[in-house]
Amino acid sequence: MLNLILFGPPGAGKGTQAEFLIESYQLIHLSTGDLLRSEIAGRTQLGLEAKAFMEKGELVPDAVVIGMIKSKLEANQTARGFIFDGFPRTVEQADALDHLLNENKTPISGMLSLEVEREELINRLMGRGLVSGRADDQDQSVIENRINVYGQKTAPLISYYSAQGKHFGINGMGTIPEIAERLKETVDRLI
Ligand code: ADP
Repeated sequence: MLNLILFGPPGAGKGTQAEFLIESYQLIHLSTGDLLRSEIAGRTQLGLEAKAFMEKGELVPDAVVIGMIKSKLEANQTARGFIFDGFPRTVEQADALDHLLNENKTPISGMLSLEVEREELINRLMGRGLVSGRADDQDQSVIENRINVYGQKTAPLISYYSAQGKHFGINGMGTIPEIAERLKETVDRLI
C-alpha cells in the first residue's frame, strides 16, 4: 500500500497536486477540508460545529477530524493506498493516524511537503477566493490567521515525520506541471 501525506501551508497547492497523484497512482483522496465542506453543505450536526472554526481560520477540534478519517479508512479497506490532504494538522492527529494505520499494518510511506513563500501563499489564496466562493479565501485576516495557525500547530509535523525518516521537502514554487513532476520523482523513489 502507498500512503502519502500531501503537506504544506494553506495555498501550497495540495488540492491541485492531489488530483494528479490520485490519477497516477490510483489512490483514494482524503481531504479533511473537502469532507468538512460537504458536511456543511449537507447541514449536518458535524458541519454546524465545524463551520464556526473554519470561518475564523481556526482548526476544527482534533476529535472531529480524526473521527472522519477513521470512518473513511474503515469504508475503504481494499484501497491501493491513500493520499491524505490537509490531514494531519496537529501532532495529536498524526499520532492518531499512526495508530489507525498500524492496526492494518499499512504505515505512512512518506510526507510530501510543499514549500512555498508566504507572500506567494497570500496571493494564491486571494486569487482563489475570487473564483471559488470560499469565504475563508476572501478575507485577508482569515488567510493570515490560517497561515499563522499552520506555523504554530502544523509545521511541527515536519520534525515529527523527519524523525521517522519520512519527510520529503518539495519546492512548491513554479508551474503546476513542474511541481507535479517533482512530486512524481519523489513518489517513484518510495514505491
Ligand atoms: P487550506 O489548506 O487552504 O486551509 P483546507 O480545505 O485544507 O484548506 O482547510 C480549510 C479549513 O478546514 C481549515 O482552515 C480548518 O478550519 C479546517 N480543517 C481542514 N482540515 C483540518 C484538520 N485536519 N484539522 C483541523 N481543521 C481542519
